[in-house]
Formats: sequence, C-alpha cells, structure tokens
Amino acid sequence: MAVVFLAAVALAAILSAYWLSGHEALADPKAHSTGGPALRAKRTPTTTATAPATQAATAPTKPWRPPRFTERRHQRRRMVRVIEGYALTDQSVLKAMTAVPRHRFVPRKHLSRAYGDSPLPIGYGQTISQPYIVAEMTRQLKLKSDSRVLEVGTGSGYQAAVLTEFTPHVYTIEIIEALATAAKKRLNRLGYTVVKTRCGDGHYGWPEAAPFDAIIVTAAAGHIPAPLIKQLKPGGRMIIPVGAPFAVQSLMLVQKDLTGVVRTRSLMAVRFVPLVSKSP
Ligand code: SAM
Repeated sequence: MAVVFLAAVALAAILSAYWLSGHEALADPKAHSTGGPALRAKRTPTTTATAPATQAATAPTKPWRPPRFTERRHQRRRMVRVIEGYALTDQSVLKAMTAVPRHRFVPRKHLSRAYGDSPLPIGYGQTISQPYIVAEMTRQLKLKSDSRVLEVGTGSGYQAAVLTEFTPHVYTIEIIEALATAAKKRLNRLGYTVVKTRCGDGHYGWPEAAPFDAIIVTAAAGHIPAPLIKQLKPGGRMIIPVGAPFAVQSLMLVQKDLTGVVRTRSLMAVRFVPLVSKSP
C-alpha cells in the first residue's frame, strides 16, 4: 500500500515538473539589456517546478530604437550606392548610412550637397566628414549592440548619430563650445537622445566613462594620445587619423589585444582638420 502511495506521489511530482517546464516563460536575463534589436523573451525550460523567481521578476530595460526618417531617402540610397562603389559591402554599415539623415546635420546653405560624397563646412573652420570615410571608419570599429564607444570631434553630431545605429552607448567630445552645444541640441531634437555629449579636449578622453570597446577620432592628431590608448579596453579598436595638420595623414587602426599589447596599422591616406589642444 505504502509503495503504491509513494509511486503515485512521485508520478505527480514528475508530471507537475513536466507541465511547468513547458509553461513557465522566464524572461531571458540578457534580453533588452543591450539596446540592440529587441530580443524576444525566451521560454527557458525549467527542470524543477521551483523556477528562480528573481529572473522572472527582472524588469527588462527599454530597448534603444534609433529614430527613422523618410524624407530624402532616395538621396541617401544614392549616396550609399556610391559608398558601395568603394567595395564597402558591410550591410550593417550601409544600413546605418541609409538611416541617418545627413541633410539634418549640414548648414542650410549646403543642403543641396548633403548627399554628395564630400566633406562640407559646418562653421568655425570645421567640416562634416565625407560619407565614405564615415562609413569606413565606422566599419573598422566592428561595433556590437553592447559596445561602448567614444568619439573625439563631435562636429555636427552626424558620426555620433551613425554610431547609435549600432549601440546606445555613445560618448562624444567636442572642443569648440558653439559646435558642442549645437550638436547636443540637434541630436536631441532628432531623437538621438542616447548620445552623451561633452565640451572639452578629447586628447584626454572621457575617463569616467572608460574603458571603451571602440574609440573614433575624427580630427588628425600629431600622435596617438596616451590617455586614449589607456581608455581602450583589451580587445578594443581605435581609429584615428595621424599626421601633420593640413597635410595628407594616415588613417591608423589601433588594436589592443586581450593581454594589453597595442598594435597599429596604417589603412589609407586621408585629410582631416587638426586635433587641437585649445579651442580656436
Ligand atoms: N565627426 C564630425 C561630424 O560627424 O560632423 C566631424 C568632425 S570634424 C572633421 C573634427 C572635429 O573635431 C571638429 O568639430 C573640431 O572642432 C573637433 N576637434 C578638434 N580638436 C579637438 C579636440 N582636441 N577635442 C575634441 N574635439 C576636437
């Protein structure tokens, strides 16, 4: 009798564990934590009837969705076809370049040239970079949806907006106060609200937000600033034009391996405005 009773209890326990394993949908603890495309809450099979309550109770963070713009889309597509012509085929980069409305980042008087493949003046002797160079520098960073990225040289804010197509963890520094203020307002107005902006000298990086998976410097430096190397994570990548001001410079890829060893490689010749030490 006792044996029959124990067998019935055991069978009931097995059946209830089986039923719960199919119905207890636990939130994936990683879902919504990165800001990438929203991950669907996964049904995680449980092996016991007592699922850890804390996992199910974790409130998901709102995923980052960059703003979308329909105006001038055909012009952006044409610009992206030009970029593809340089044999740049990374679909995530091409998608990002198609999404960000470059015409909203250029001064009104240059609107008609917003989607040409050339840099344009943005005031104060500075420029918004050539679209192909923006695309190639972005590609070199190999961003993931949880990457932490620092940009030195906010300028118009365009490159920062492109970075948010990959990750919401974007920090950008601009040395000219008027540009920094205008870019901050522009980014917020357009909906790129995740970008953290700062006015200051980017030679020193952003120590409180470091370390970064990726650093992009959009002005030409005489040398690679030591604080930026320090603020790069092991396994991180930095892209930076190095060379004399107003000359042809070398676009350098700086990689820090997992043991902290730093290697640099020259990718191509470029021409950028100089990385200065004091606001002109
Ligand atoms: N990324 C910008 C965009 O998308 O519009 C274009 C950047 S523009 C080619 C270079 C920018 O670097 C200028 O706005 C310039 O004022 C800024 N800059 C120069 N030296 C700097 C420094 N030490 N720290 C931060 N920004 C600096």
